[in-house]
Amino acid sequence: MWYDGDNTSVGEENCLIRSIVRDVLFLGQKSETADRVDVAVGRDLRDTLRANRDKCVGMAANMIGVRKRIIIVGMGPMDLVMYNPEIVRFDTPYEAEEGCLSLDGTRGTTRYQNIEVTWMDDGWKPRRQRFSGYIAQIIQHEVDHLNGVVI
Ligand SMILES: [Zn+2]
Repeated sequence: MWYDGDNTSVGEENCLIRSIVRDVLFLGQKSETADRVDVAVGRDLRDTLRANRDKCVGMAANMIGVRKRIIIVGMGPMDLVMYNPEIVRFDTPYEAEEGCLSLDGTRGTTRYQNIEVTWMDDGWKPRRQRFSGYIAQIIQHEVDHLNGVVI
């Protein structure tokens, strides 16, 4: 998800910062289960989010060309990378207007105020936590990407 501004891909000398995929056919495909070796992809996501911080609050791995179930949620100094995230509970729907680094403009969608998520962390330990509000909205947007859903 982004705030606003242009969608220019980031091209830096640092090759870990990957450019943003905007190919809707690619983004429309479902991502595969991540393995422990994919922690390297999580690192690339961290670097890429950092480079796009001004316009981006979260990303999915397919946005940097890797079709694995990995997302990152911008949470300030401690960006949260989730491997194989699953939204196991949700309640209180509302209508949201969202933008995406991979698309132009914004679109309306239904989100849930409260969610509970399970995932594997960077140390490949299983985690389970509840999120609400804006952070919950980012997670829902990025999990949609893993399922090939681009809002
Ligand atoms: Zn997006």
